[in-house]
This record gives sequence, structure tokens and C-alpha cells, in this order.
Amino acid sequence: MRGLVVLGSTGSIGENTIDVALRHPDRFRIVGLAANSNDDSLFRQCLRCRPSFAAMLDGTAAGRLRERLSAARSPTRVLAGPEALTTVAAAPEAELVMAAIVGAAGLAPTFAAAAAGKQLLLANKEALVLAGTLLIDAAAASGARILPIDSEHNAVFQCLPPARERGGPPPGVARIILTASGGPFLKTRREDLASVTPEQAVAHPNWRMGPKISVDSATLMNKGLELIEACHLFRLGPDRVTIVIHPQSVVHSLVEFDDGSMLAQMSQPDMRVPIAHALGWPDRIVSGVQSLDLVQVGQLSFEAPDLERFPCLALACQAARAGGTAPAVANAANEVAVAAFLERRLNFAGIAAVIDSVLQQHQVRPVRVLEDALAADGWARHAAGTALSLRQAVGT
Ligand code: NAD
Ligand code: MG
Repeated sequence: MRGLVVLGSTGSIGENTIDVALRHPDRFRIVGLAANSNDDSLFRQCLRCRPSFAAMLDGTAAGRLRERLSAARSPTRVLAGPEALTTVAAAPEAELVMAAIVGAAGLAPTFAAAAAGKQLLLANKEALVLAGTLLIDAAAASGARILPIDSEHNAVFQCLPPARERGGPPPGVARIILTASGGPFLKTRREDLASVTPEQAVAHPNWRMGPKISVDSATLMNKGLELIEACHLFRLGPDRVTIVIHPQSVVHSLVEFDDGSMLAQMSQPDMRVPIAHALGWPDRIVSGVQSLDLVQVGQLSFEAPDLERFPCLALACQAARAGGTAPAVANAANEVAVAAFLERRLNFAGIAAVIDSVLQQHQVRPVRVLEDALAADGWARHAAGTALSLRQAVGT
């Protein structure tokens, strides 16, 4: 029986993780859950999963949860505040930790799990984007194994030969090809992109995800963040990662080898596939996902991304090539811009404009310690806030 902690349990990845884990009560015991402020959802999860700990960032919500659980005679202990998240991430009872808090907020708990030598099921891509080298090094130092949850990276992981050594790019690998659905605006004309709404942006054609990553998929920023993520996970330079639009979202990514062979991983677009892969690894376990009917899929198509209509992808690639603090800055500016877009304070095209303006003002520095990445993140949030106010002042 393996102990499992789910960080970000009330989110889309968190719910899917619980769904898969509860299908295997003989394999997994959920020992800890952690979330931001949704105590209703966490309360229901605590009754279903009976974890030893439930942590909430929001102290008031944690207080409500504690009262309701005690009234329900639940054995779960409730912890509150940012330290509670890192405590649960490093809980000795857990062998596996699902890191599925969204955004830079997931950084500290994800690092805590890596430092504690856990098997780290990594969905929180922002941790790799902000401080990928440090996270990979922290995992190597403690013996923590990182299993990627992002569907593309999980696909690449499945296609790669078993790691023979840590460090250096995998032998025989020529390049990685990350597929992108293209999002809801794949066919939208450039002049119409300015007026698209948050509702249209989060209505992803193939995947059901949280709001922030759904907007990132619509701008293709998500694919840019994934390129950075891939460079760290698989120790390849950005020139060896290619992005291809594949609207059916059936081929989740590919690896091309030196002999010209390409291996791809395919499945229904359902995050329970990569989650079950990582939970069961190296065994294969049931995910609850239907078999893929190839005849029904019929055709698979691939096309190059349009960097003119989706400039966020070009900006993220530029940040990947610059390295150092540039990815953290691009990520933070994006988080601020996406939040403003969701609140209708910024139009869709403005997201790229804010990232571009912040990146242009930034002096890239190396990331030697976590504080370097956090300082860049803080600076970029401030700069993005200023860029937003300027745009509002001139009415764009
Ligand atoms: P979501 O918005 O549905 O859920 C986010 C979770 O994080 C919630 O449980 C929330 O309570 C928690 N959270 C948010 N802010 C927090 C804070 N400050 N402190 C503690 N907890 C906090 O997001 P999601 O779609 O499940 O995505 C989670 C992560 O997985 C993201 O990094 C995303 O990029 C990545 N990811 C998601 C998908 C997907 O299909 N949803 C696919 C690939 C990667
Ligand atoms: Mg992905």
C-alpha cells in the first residue's frame, strides 16, 4: 500500500487523481489533501478519502473545514497556512505526491516534496518554468523521482527508453515533438481575436481544465511553458523541441530518434491516462478511460503553429532561449495578464502585449538559488501590473 498526497486536490487534476486512486484501494491510501480556499469541496473529499491531513492556504476556510469535519466525526486533522502545504507535501506517510497546485503558488510545496525524496507526480509546470534546474537538482540530490503529468511530457516519458543515467540528454534522441490542440481559436482570424471573451477562451474543444491553463491553451502560451518544461525534464536545448498543432488531441507527443524512427503515445484526451500512468509506474493500472476508437477518430492532422496570431508562443520560446530568469518573468507576466483577462480588465491580444512589454524591460540574470527565481517573479508581477495600468489609462 502506497501513501499518496494530493496538492491542489480540489482542482481539475486533483479531482482526476482522486478518481484514479480510489479505483485502486488495494494500492493507494490517500494520506493528505491540500487546497486553497474551497472548503466545501475539500470537506466532501475528506469524507470520501479519509486522509490523515487536510491543508488549506486560507485560514478562515480551514476553520470552517475543521468544524464541519469534527461534527462529522472525521479523523482528518486540518492544517492551515502556507507552511501547512509544505508540511503535507513532505509528510513521512506519503511515498507519492501529486503536485497539482496551479501557478507559482505551487512552487514551495513542490520543492518540499522533491527535497523529501518523494515520487513526485508533477503537474505544476510553473515550478519547472520558474526554477527547473533547481527542481531537477533537488530531486537528484534527495533521490526523488519526477514523473511528468502534463499529457505531452508524460507521452514523451512513455516513449523514451528507461533513463540510464541522470544528467545529459537521453542517448539516441534527436528531438521531441510536442503536440498542441491549437485551442478554441485555431481558426479565428487575427482581427477577431481582440474581441474574444473569457467564456469562449475557457471552452477548450478537447480538454476540461482549470481556467488559467485553459486561457493559456487558447493563447498557446501553454505550449511555450511546456517547451520550457520539456527542456528541463528531458535535458534538451529549446532547438531540439518542436511544436506541432494537432487538433484531434489524440497523439499526445512524439520522440524522434537518431535513426529517424518516431514513437508517439496516443489515447483519449483525458488526464486520467497520464495520471494513472504515473500513479502505477512502472506497472500499468486501470484509469477509467475508454479505449480509443481509431476508426471513429478517422484522421489525424498536423500543422505548423501560426506565431503571428499566437505571439505568446513566440515570446515563451524567446524566454526559453534567453534562459536564466527570463522564463520566470514570462510566466509571472502571463499569470497577471491572464487573471486580468478573466476579470475583463484586458482583452485577449493584450495578454501577449503585457508579456512582451515586461520581457523587454527585463535584464536576464542567472537562477542560482530559489530566491533568484522568486525575485524575478515578484519583479515581473509588479512590472505587469504597471503595464496593465498603462494600457487601461490609454484605453486599450
Ligand atoms: P485548477 O485551477 O483546476 O486547480 C488548482 C488547484 O490548486 C485547486 O485545488 C486550488 O485549490 C489549488 N490552489 C490554487 N492556488 C493555491 C494556493 N495559492 N495555495 C494552495 N493551493 C492553491 O487547476 P488545474 O487545471 O487542476 O491545474 C493544476 C496544475 O496542473 C497547473 O499547474 C496546470 O498547469 C497543470 N496541468 C493541468 C492540466 C489539466 O488538464 N487541468 C494539464 C496539464 C497540466
Ligand atoms: Mg499539456
